[in-house]
Amino acid sequence: MKLLEQRIQSDAVVLDGDILKVDMFLNHQIDVTLIKELGKELYTSFSAYPITKILTVESSGIPIACAAAELFNVPVVFAKKGQHSNIGSNVFSTQVFSFTKGKSYQINISKDYLLSSDNILIIDDFLANGEAVLGLKRIIDEARANLLGVGIAIEKGFQGGGEKIRKLGVPLLSLAVIESMSDGNIVFRLNNCKE
Ligand code: 5GP
Repeated sequence: MKLLEQRIQSDAVVLDGDILKVDMFLNHQIDVTLIKELGKELYTSFSAYPITKILTVESSGIPIACAAAELFNVPVVFAKKGQHSNIGSNVFSTQVFSFTKGKSYQINISKDYLLSSDNILIIDDFLANGEAVLGLKRIIDEARANLLGVGIAIEKGFQGGGEKIRKLGVPLLSLAVIESMSDGNIVFRLNNCKE
């Protein structure tokens, strides 16, 4: 998606350790107009799917998930992080390794909000090694719900998460796929169709 690629080129900062800082429009300060466009693009791509719920992980995925959910007219459920996430004991939980923090954390979703009848679209801000998406998928499988697709704002194509998800046969659309970002020079993948 050209709009997102242009914004990354103009405002994002490449940090050591293959981390892209997008605090100025996605992760700290939020450009609501841009987020709405991302939501619209994800909706357009997955509108033929009978989505009943959008799943994400707190906190950076929530705005994009909400922008898409408004168009699908379905709720967003975000996995809460940490063992004391204050949602009681009737939860699905799994451990996820965080690429940016270098350690594992627990994600939890109340069983009240994830049903076997649900058709799920996962939405997140970044796809790196795929740990967050695969953690959500484990929970979806445990709930016997159906994962219909994954929508990502920025995929770092050189980190393998996209490949893992595509291998599972789950349709994945990443709005911008970064092929490389060495020496601060960000190169995007040209063809990033939903597979
Ligand atoms: P994964 O689970 O695919 O390895 O990493 C995805 C998660 O880690 C996302 O939810 C995102 O919050 C965080 N993440 C991974 N890479 C980056 C990055 O380069 N920049 C930022 N800001 N977050 C990232």
